[in-house]
Amino acid sequence: MAEFDVLVIGSGPGGYVCAIRAAQLGLKVACAEKRATLGGTCLNIGCIPSKALLQSSENFHAAQHQFSDHGIGVGELTLDLARMMARKGEVVAANTKGVEFLFRKNKVTWLKGEARITGPGRVSVGGEEYAAKNIVIASGSESTPLKGVEVDEKRIVTSTGGLELSEVPKHLVVIGGGVIGLEIGSVWRRLGAEVTVIEFLDRIVPTLDAEVAKAFERVLVKQGMKFRLSSKVTAAKLTNAGVTLTVEPSKGGAAEEIMADIVLLAIGRRATSDGVGVTEAGVELDERGRVKVDAHFATNVAGIWAIGDVIAGPMLAHKAEDEGVAVAEIIAGQAGHVNYEAIPSVIYTWPEVASVGRSEEELKADGVAYVVGKFPFTANGRARAMGDTDGFVKILADKTTDRLLGAHILGPDAGGLIAELTTAIEFGASAEDVARICHAHPTLSEAVKEAALAAEGRAIHM
Ligand SMILES: Cc1cc2nc3c(=O)[nH]c(=O)nc-3n(C[C@H](O)[C@H](O)[C@H](O)COP(=O)(O)OP(=O)(O)OC[C@H]3O[C@@H](n4cnc5c(N)ncnc54)[C@H](O)[C@@H]3O)c2cc1C
Repeated sequence: MAEFDVLVIGSGPGGYVCAIRAAQLGLKVACAEKRATLGGTCLNIGCIPSKALLQSSENFHAAQHQFSDHGIGVGELTLDLARMMARKGEVVAANTKGVEFLFRKNKVTWLKGEARITGPGRVSVGGEEYAAKNIVIASGSESTPLKGVEVDEKRIVTSTGGLELSEVPKHLVVIGGGVIGLEIGSVWRRLGAEVTVIEFLDRIVPTLDAEVAKAFERVLVKQGMKFRLSSKVTAAKLTNAGVTLTVEPSKGGAAEEIMADIVLLAIGRRATSDGVGVTEAGVELDERGRVKVDAHFATNVAGIWAIGDVIAGPMLAHKAEDEGVAVAEIIAGQAGHVNYEAIPSVIYTWPEVASVGRSEEELKADGVAYVVGKFPFTANGRARAMGDTDGFVKILADKTTDRLLGAHILGPDAGGLIAELTTAIEFGASAEDVARICHAHPTLSEAVKEAALAAEGRAIHM
């Protein structure tokens, strides 16, 4: 029977990064994957295909609505959706093949098939038994189902089907105003669909700073997206014309019907802890079915570890990757660590939304005294030159020490801009530290510097 120092279950960003780092540290490593290709949700049906379509649809939208402002005429614009989808497939394949190459380079054995823990230090993959000194569960997550709404991935789709539609829907109804629903909703809105988002809460993206979420909602409304907040879908019926949804106020009340030709179910994701053999192995799960781990990613069973979407914390690829590195280093006897205070989160709509650290609501709830520094992109020269002035940078700093506690950006390239503020938080910087850094002109990053200056009431360009 083949024996490994580390056998990782799942090849998503948590699993494949863990496998590569463990191999770099000299351990004998295997990674089991039940999907035909490596890379998990992220590379196959998540981050990468959604960003490919967001980029394509953004280009289409810009050609249709913005080029003329720059004095560029493109004649009659056409949409070749089949080509757009094929390009997305090429982008996905380049990434999944890239992981295959990295496995070969680092001598990680790819075990093809469904893995199941069969006993202490034992895993079966596709019927074959393997011995492993350490087992890392990185089995990820899947779309959360909703009672009364049966997914067929054709007319009622999850994000997977939502990234595969063969024609632009006339009316797309998105159930859930979270990150995935708004990103995929944006793709189809830009390509011409009428998009209605139904959200249970009275606001979109509940994890965002409330002021930023409100401004974000206004921008999306300006783009033509419709919102039904404080509403819940209780049933979905397939008809000849499409889908009829029954919608009620969240708190209960009169129901009404909404027609859609495609419904995207995007109410969240749940841990894929089923099918890995955790219960039989005696691994404890929490109340939401996630694998319970301690601060070092160890489960209650010696030699079994877990990382990524299958454990608690934000369901983000880079969080899974950092945990993959940390657990590999811990297994190798080093001091792996993840700083959960400095994990950025990005929504890749246009404009983008990015945040790191605490929101105003969290600081208030914890009774922390803070100052706010804000700077709008309307006052940034580069944003004006680009014609992308929606949004602002918002910085939250400790009132007494000036230490940066949180940063939130709604605006062009917010996802790129948040890296500087993540670095600042990681290094324990103050708002003044950021304000004193020389930022190139004219760049969007000057808005970050100005927001830091604004925290001390001394922004220059406002
Ligand atoms: C549409 C969409 C867009 C997203 N966009 C972003 C984004 O822009 N940025 C971001 O940070 N995050 C994004 N995410 C979230 C991100 O994809 C996840 O946080 C990330 O993939 C989690 O990584 P993971 O390694 O924990 O699990 P996963 O990527 O889910 O990988 C788990 C792997 O384990 C395999 N597996 C499960 N059970 C077994 C078994 N028993 N045997 C063998 N293999 C098994 C699965 O097949 C899967 O390939 C997005 C998600 C979706 C759905």
